[in-house]
Amino acid sequence: MQTVRGLLASLLRVQHPDPDVRRRGRVLVALCSSVSVIALVLAPIVAQLSDASSGLWTLALTSAAYLGVVPLARRGHVGIASAAVVCTFGTIIAGIVHVTNAQLSPVYCSVIVLVGGLVVRVRAVPLVLLATVGLILALPHISGDGTRPSSYDDVAVAGVLMSVVAAFAAFLTSRIVSTLLREAETARLQAADLAARLSEVNGQLEARVAARTEELEDALRRSRVLAGQLEGMTRRDFLTGLGNRRELDAALRAIDSRREPPHSISLAVCDIDDFKTVNDRFGHPAGDEVLRRVATTLDRGRRAGDLVVRLGGEEFVLLLPGAEQGQAAEACERLRAAVAALDLDDVSPGLRVTMSVGVATGGPGPAHPRLGALLGTADAHLYEAKRAGKDRVVTGKLDTGRPAIVA
Ligand code: GH3
Ligand code: MG
Ligand code: MG
Repeated sequence: MQTVRGLLASLLRVQHPDPDVRRRGRVLVALCSSVSVIALVLAPIVAQLSDASSGLWTLALTSAAYLGVVPLARRGHVGIASAAVVCTFGTIIAGIVHVTNAQLSPVYCSVIVLVGGLVVRVRAVPLVLLATVGLILALPHISGDGTRPSSYDDVAVAGVLMSVVAAFAAFLTSRIVSTLLREAETARLQAADLAARLSEVNGQLEARVAARTEELEDALRRSRVLAGQLEGMTRRDFLTGLGNRRELDAALRAIDSRREPPHSISLAVCDIDDFKTVNDRFGHPAGDEVLRRVATTLDRGRRAGDLVVRLGGEEFVLLLPGAEQGQAAEACERLRAAVAALDLDDVSPGLRVTMSVGVATGGPGPAHPRLGALLGTADAHLYEAKRAGKDRVVTGKLDTGRPAIVA
């Protein structure tokens, strides 16, 4: 019993990864084996009952055809095996029909092959092929001369032929299909590989672009900082650390861009008296130090909101936004006195300096376009201060040009 079960199990073992194919393969093996056994058992009986070599031959050939199908099915070639079975069935049934109606048998044959093929799910291409080839091959055997029935042997031979041709056609088709599938799979894998490499290269490219963009942005940031520093440097006087003429220009533009510009503006030109003598007597380095000290005195002594710049040489400009003539005179007088009181003994014993100041005051209106006029008037007043004996402040209105000596 155990041995029979083992034999059955090994007979029904189908080699294929797809469980559906394995199941169909097992059904086919079981079916073929049963029919073959029955056919072999019935063969001698049929032979005795009828005349029959025909019965014997038929059954023997049929069994042989089925036995040919089993190994195919067990190897997982279920489609091919099914095609062979369907054709054989079709031919046998068509042969039986042929005995009663010779004209109809080819039609039955092909219909059975097609329906059977659909039932066992053989692919459409081999089905059409095997039905057509089967018909062509079967016709001369089945029809004979078209009037008298041919022997059942002929029908059996036709069935076996059809099975072989159908199996071959199904085999060819399956090979072609699997080759095409393999090629398609290879192409798909190559495409996937290419896509992966492309995306990798793309990723690298994007990373490089991002890095380069960051470098560029960094360089841009640094160059902006440098440009800012340079801009700042071009507005500075290196000796005193004060702003220069550019700074004065920018300050006036800033004042003009205020929402509420000042109703008046004063500008003072401060010039150290007899500075050439300082250089000559105490040396150029001492002269430089004097310039620095005077610059610091003016910067510390200015009112909040006023600006001191070094115009060049020993000349400084004091900008007093909003200052009327009197306020400007007062502020400048305070600075003049501070410079005169400077103790410069540490620079050189006995060194003292004074400065003269010329002030110009303008009324309401944009200040920057009037810078030249303000400087001109302040210079004229400075000249007056020098002429009057130096160490004093001279003020006056921009429009009248009449100087008023303050101190
Ligand atoms: P005044 O009272 O009429 O203004 O006479 P001053 O000697 O001050 O004027 P002057 O224009 O004759 O001489 C200015 C001097 O300032 C001449 C120049 O050597 C000196 N000077 C200009 N710039 C500098 C500087 O950066 N450092 C030093 N040490 N001296 C300078
Ligand atoms: Mg001068
Ligand atoms: Mg001078």
